[in-house]
Amino acid sequence: MGTTVVALDLRAGDAAPGVNALKPCGPSAVDVGNALAARGRHWPPMMSTPRLTTRPATARPRSVGPWPHDGPDEPVAASPLALAREAERCGRVAEAALLLVDASIAALRSERPADAAAYVTEAERLAELSGDANACGATHVARARLEYLSGDPGAALRAVERAWPALRDGGEPQHRVDCLTMFGVVLADLGLVEAAMEWDLKALTEAGAFAATGAPGSLLRFARAHTNLAARCVDRGEALAAEGDDAAARETFERAASLSREARRLNRELGAVGAVAINCGNLGVALAYLGRFDEAEAALAEGDRTRGDRKTNNDWINARIHHARLCLCRGDLTGADGWIASALADAEARGILRMASECYAMAAEVAERRGDLAGALANFKRFHSADKRLTHAGTEQRARTMAVRMRTEHAEAEAARLRRVAREDPLTGLANRRALDEWLGASYALARGEQRPLCAALVDVDFFKRVNDRFSHAVGDAVLRRVAELLRGATRAGDLVARYGGEEFVLAVVGCDLAAASRVCERARAAIEGDDWGRIAPGLAVTASFGLCDLTESDGPEGGLARADGALYQAKAGGRNQVVVAGLRPSP
Ligand code: GH3
Ligand code: MG
Ligand code: MG
Repeated sequence: MGTTVVALDLRAGDAAPGVNALKPCGPSAVDVGNALAARGRHWPPMMSTPRLTTRPATARPRSVGPWPHDGPDEPVAASPLALAREAERCGRVAEAALLLVDASIAALRSERPADAAAYVTEAERLAELSGDANACGATHVARARLEYLSGDPGAALRAVERAWPALRDGGEPQHRVDCLTMFGVVLADLGLVEAAMEWDLKALTEAGAFAATGAPGSLLRFARAHTNLAARCVDRGEALAAEGDDAAARETFERAASLSREARRLNRELGAVGAVAINCGNLGVALAYLGRFDEAEAALAEGDRTRGDRKTNNDWINARIHHARLCLCRGDLTGADGWIASALADAEARGILRMASECYAMAAEVAERRGDLAGALANFKRFHSADKRLTHAGTEQRARTMAVRMRTEHAEAEAARLRRVAREDPLTGLANRRALDEWLGASYALARGEQRPLCAALVDVDFFKRVNDRFSHAVGDAVLRRVAELLRGATRAGDLVARYGGEEFVLAVVGCDLAAASRVCERARAAIEGDDWGRIAPGLAVTASFGLCDLTESDGPEGGLARADGALYQAKAGGRNQVVVAGLRPSP
């Protein structure tokens, strides 16, 4: 009696990984007169000439990672739009959207922004159509990238703000990492360097986990996360130096140097030439600030060599800014003049305000160190005006608000994660003993109050010790994970499957009587017996015994489980691989 097969249904999924949070740091417009009056400390500190603090603590970041120009060139479909249409026709709409995202990156790499824009627009349409959260998130990130590269960080921020909620709960790792990276890039561009660093750190952590899987594109993202965090450290180090916090600045530049070295190593491995050059630049600047001029020179020279003739991108302007910075740190004002003039000419010609602004600031510094206060003032005014144009007050305000919101969200997600972990069995992902006790306590009270049955079975894998002994402990673990899956598969949402301990589980079924519950158990038993265990290890066979009872027929859940244990004992004694209902004889 009590061993019949029953139909079963489905189950629910689970929860959200955490978001990282930010510390907003306010970019403030600097009054020209005040700034000229405020004499900053010199950096590196071992040099003696005082200098003007022309860079406010939150000035534009200079060494943003070259995203997305940093990867080795990948083969791209000849006509992505046609391919996407084809995929759409076949109903693979989300896939088509992702295809177009890839195509947009390739188009940006080969400096075809108009194509990239067309691909992103079409990708957005398809993602929307598919309703696929991952595809939506990925297309928003693509939009953010596009807007950022076209110089509109405000629009980039709006896009990335839409992207994260779509990707947060289960987006694919590469899109999640890209989204976190984009947050860092945009926030840094808005002058929120500290906030950006937190996202970059989060990107680094996720990219690290992703790289450990060895998935295509994961190492590239890991390298990129290093590059960007290093760039942020250079920016932050400069701000700290300007504030006069030498010890913190030094520490931050050291961190920039070591991150840059690691990024350079990874990028060399990847053959990402452009990225290696960027890493050399950041390394050079960090070392220059640390007063290690020869090493800095060598790093910048390596960057130039690596870049070779590929001086097409903005990073060649950046590189000259780095050279100028090294000259300034060394006190070589004439050398700085040359680099600044050359970088500025290109920055102005290309209309790259952020880099032009950097050049004005350095030019002001050079003039001021020469005692040419009129020249310093003129350049500072240029810097100030450029900086003001770079400042989008509304956008920055929103960025800060968002930073706070994200931090709250992160704290909540982290708390939820901790709560979940405390209640979850790490091997199987099932509810652990603590969660089981809570659940049983609450469900028992409810069932008794409503005079409904609450059935629970103790499930014990048969001869499990032999599995460990004959195969291995690892095979044993795999068996436990699979049994957990099969038990979950046999229950409905609202029921509970928990790991009781060792190779014992509890399967609790709500809203049905003992007869129905025993059919659920029988179904689970048959699923275990009939599973293809040879996939885990050739020759492996697994069965389990079930002891079932209606808990509400006892004084409490514990007494109920003791009765279930009695039934389980009978199932074992009766030959195992069977379901016994408490108070009933096992079937022959
Ligand atoms: P029976 O049919 O009577 O239940 O025999 P059995 O071998 O399953 O029972 P026994 O209690 O003798 O052995 C249970 C084994 O389960 C012993 C223990 O080493 C193993 N075990 C407990 N927890 C784990 C685990 O997390 N992983 C693995 N691989 N083995 C575990
Ligand atoms: Mg046991
Ligand atoms: Mg056992």
